[in-house]
Amino acid sequence: MAVKVNEGIQLIELHDVINDVEMVFRPTIIWDDKDVVLIDTGYPGHLEDIKTSLEKLPNGKLTKIIITHHDYDHLGSLYEIIQGFDHKIEVYAHELTKPYIQGEKPLIKTGINVPKTLVDVTVEDGQVLPFCGGITVIFTPGHTPDHIGLYHQDTKTLITGDAMTADQGQLQIPNPKFTLDMDQALVSLNKFLDFDIETAICYHGGVCRDGIKERISTLAAGK
Ligand SMILES: [Zn+2]
Repeated sequence: MAVKVNEGIQLIELHDVINDVEMVFRPTIIWDDKDVVLIDTGYPGHLEDIKTSLEKLPNGKLTKIIITHHDYDHLGSLYEIIQGFDHKIEVYAHELTKPYIQGEKPLIKTGINVPKTLVDVTVEDGQVLPFCGGITVIFTPGHTPDHIGLYHQDTKTLITGDAMTADQGQLQIPNPKFTLDMDQALVSLNKFLDFDIETAICYHGGVCRDGIKERISTLAAGK
């Protein structure tokens, strides 16, 4: 199911049952006249869900995918999406994420080697991707060593990836159970304070709109 966040940006809710627990994963779609960008892809098996969400957009031709980090719940569907469309879709990821996407390294937490997908463009901290009004890359290691957040300039929206989670509309620290270096993850949160954020989208937990900056400061201070 698609959930509108702002003009030109929405999230998709993908449902999976993991260890008998129903969970929701939230890739983001950002679009303009020229591009449709998918940020993260969910576990394998969601090609049809993603196609259905795209078909409802004014310009539903997916042109780019950005992966925030190499965890399986974020890149699991990437291979089948790339295979499932008959036009070129460019894949963007950090240099550190690339070998996992390309199947050259096993994923740290699961040991899985995913089927190879080529990364077309590697991105780095501070880079502004020149589409959909500008999307800034924010390197935020901690949850994993390769993690990036993304800031959509037009809508002042932060796509947190797993740098934070959300609960009942309030930002939270990343899930300690799945965060490899929590100290580093909290230090990384300070980088978000450089941005004028009106809305935050958490892959785990959804949309937050209230008191974003104050909340990030509190979390970064370990309070
Ligand atoms: Zn995740």
